[in-house]
Amino acid sequence: MGYAKRMWMEEQAREYHTSSDGVCVNCFDDPGLAAFIAEHLETNTCSICGRKGNEKIAAPADEVVQFFLEKMYDHYEDAANTAPWDGEEGGFMVTTYSMYDLLFDKYPDIAPYETLEWLHSRLKDDVVLCDRDWQIMTPGQALESGWGAFAESVKHTTRFLFFPNAKRDDDDGEPFRVRPEEMLDQLGEAIQACGLIRSIAAGTKVFRARGHETGKTFTLPKDLGPPPVEFAKTAGRMNAPGIVVFYGAYEKETALAEATGNHAAFSVAGFETLTELSVVDLTNLPRVPSIFEGGPRESLRSLHRFTREVSQPFEPDAEIHIEYTPSQVVSEFFRHRLHDGQGNPIRGLVYGSAKRTGAANLALFVESWEVEGVATETWRKKEPVLRLVSTEETVAAKARKKKRS
Ligand SMILES: [Zn+2]
Repeated sequence: MGYAKRMWMEEQAREYHTSSDGVCVNCFDDPGLAAFIAEHLETNTCSICGRKGNEKIAAPADEVVQFFLEKMYDHYEDAANTAPWDGEEGGFMVTTYSMYDLLFDKYPDIAPYETLEWLHSRLKDDVVLCDRDWQIMTPGQALESGWGAFAESVKHTTRFLFFPNAKRDDDDGEPFRVRPEEMLDQLGEAIQACGLIRSIAAGTKVFRARGHETGKTFTLPKDLGPPPVEFAKTAGRMNAPGIVVFYGAYEKETALAEATGNHAAFSVAGFETLTELSVVDLTNLPRVPSIFEGGPRESLRSLHRFTREVSQPFEPDAEIHIEYTPSQVVSEFFRHRLHDGQGNPIRGLVYGSAKRTGAANLALFVESWEVEGVATETWRKKEPVLRLVSTEETVAAKARKKKRS
């Protein structure tokens, strides 16, 4: 064992009571701690639950406690070293914790109560802790606050220009700050790091509902697919007026729930994708890893929040034009700047429905002439992306009253 490693272990040993105990996987709920134990099985008995095995079922408690402390110290530090002290009030000026606070208040889900008590009995718990680097934002906090600044900026300051502010103060003490002009690239990196670019297989069914008067059913691909540019006049969650996006859903019910306008009837079209499409999938995000696991924890945490924001409902029409701006800009960024791992462009976005819990919406970057059977100039002709396979009319299915505030 190297000198540095030995010093580090001695340093850590000062913070816990050493023993020859063993602990088993069953006694921990946190996937990171359980995985560590599973990789270090050396004894046959668990000192927490008393389980005995013919084979090795438990890891040395000292190693597990060391691993626990090492991960804790990635996020917390000795307050005495960094936190400011208020001489008059007689206390630290930042939030502090004991190991007891962290175990029983901040991380009670890592293990059953019995294990938490055992773990606490191993720890000396004589250090006052505070958040590590409490002076600055973590990369995840910076990404979240960056998204807030970005959304505010495109809604109320600058919608079309993202030049760095010439007068900005580069040294504001926040090394991870994400400025509005840096936000899209950071978002793209987080999406790639978290594996949110997926492909929709050829042959996938996608539904779209279009409202009209009773009996005037739409049946043609040109009427049921994305509108030609000259008719793309309304703003949507993922498109600014004038820019064509095909909005669909995996189920008819979702397409109907999402259809806008107060109509007597709706034509529901079933399309089939004719080619594999790379999309950014904001549904089924991987869970955020615990502090005891590897993985892009900070990026995933901020992506969970971003996803909730781009799916949230807005009702009054007037609000939509401003509130949709951030997601419209993001959608354009995905469409024109982001690629899947093979260099293919992103052809759409999958996001949660605000109208139907648990269901997904699709915004596909498909033009009207990319639907099979829609006439267009010959120079545009290329392989179609969507094929109309079914149509039906739902009469007065949802003469929804328009909400007025
Ligand atoms: Zn056990």
